[in-house]
Amino acid sequence: VNAAMAPPADGLWHNLRVERALCDPPCAATEPTAIGVRDGRIAYVGAIDAAPPEFAALPRHDGGGAYVTPGLVDCHTHLVYAGDRAHEFAERLAGASYADIARAGGGILSTVRATRAADEETLYQAAARRLRHWLAEGVCAIEIKSGYGLDLATERRLLRVARRLGDTHHVTVRTTFLGAHALPAEFAGRADAYVDRVAREMLPVLAAEGLVDAVDVFCDDIAFSVAQSERVFDAAAALGLRVKMHAGQLSDLGGVGLAARHRALSADHLEHLSARDIDAMRDAGMVAVLLPAAFYALRDTHAPPIDALRAAGVPLAVASDHNPGTAPVLSLLLAMNMAATLFRLGVDEVLAGVTRHAARALGLESTHGTLGVGKPANFVLWDLQSAAELAYWIGAPRPRIVVRQGTIAHRAADAT
Ligand SMILES: [Zn+2]
Repeated sequence: VNAAMAPPADGLWHNLRVERALCDPPCAATEPTAIGVRDGRIAYVGAIDAAPPEFAALPRHDGGGAYVTPGLVDCHTHLVYAGDRAHEFAERLAGASYADIARAGGGILSTVRATRAADEETLYQAAARRLRHWLAEGVCAIEIKSGYGLDLATERRLLRVARRLGDTHHVTVRTTFLGAHALPAEFAGRADAYVDRVAREMLPVLAAEGLVDAVDVFCDDIAFSVAQSERVFDAAAALGLRVKMHAGQLSDLGGVGLAARHRALSADHLEHLSARDIDAMRDAGMVAVLLPAAFYALRDTHAPPIDALRAAGVPLAVASDHNPGTAPVLSLLLAMNMAATLFRLGVDEVLAGVTRHAARALGLESTHGTLGVGKPANFVLWDLQSAAELAYWIGAPRPRIVVRQGTIAHRAADAT
């Protein structure tokens, strides 16, 4: 369905099996079987018999017994960039080391070169092709980071493309400025000078242009230090912007404690994370965003401390981390399977990780992530029996119908 022409979803959707765990407030009906949509918003969730009389005059949509979840949320992607790194993947398989590839100009800086050379339309078209995979899986909100420009003009181009993708595809896009992703070649040996550029020049300008919903920093021993991260966070705070952090992927610098002091929305990766910082995350109300596709692609063996995070009550989100280097994954559903298989998340945890908790990691909990009266109508009808199947199948499930932003955005060819 062309997003601009998608028919409205208003009416009473019935013959459903609605995921009870994601009704908000908890559903009174023993078995919620209907969702009422009015003016593009969810106006009722419950038993068909108890639906308010106003729906008698609205269309009826037979769900055919489908299992229903809220629209999915991918809370961590690097979707906009030029080129890819397939050739480097092939070289590594043929025996080249990361160091060999980096010496030959490869790695993240090769994506930066390609991205700087690409115009806005080229970047838009490439990202739109990728975004279609998320939309076909029932994703209704997606976070898109900058970070492959590393100069003002290119970072602006990436964020503009992200905004435009949301407008043209009728999907909620949250933009995150990740100027502190890597050190660009022209600043080699001058990381502090680059961080100054990010914090004092790039961020204020891009924020003033309305392009920045949140600010992220890659805090790791191959990226930026805690002190450097703090300068970026201070600049974000001065502009009233929420922050998040790539932390603990390869080493634990203690950046999560800094993020907690800044009331970050989330810390992401977290393979290396201390017990003290887990407590700090809980106390700050932060979400732990798990990125199993990067763990898989890097053949990492050091999993995040899931048991300790769970015991502390830190909400766990699951995201794709789509990027051309360490997670060329085009499927949030596959990331769900990986979170279950590699990190041993339970079915309920995986599902909450791509809905309720993912929305919270983006500050979108009032509009996304649960089936709540008053929220924009974003939900998915699946040809599946239960949440277990969402985590279980590898590569196959596709929604029967996706209701996104109050419209019937996708309908499988065989759906009635
Ligand atoms: Zn990332």
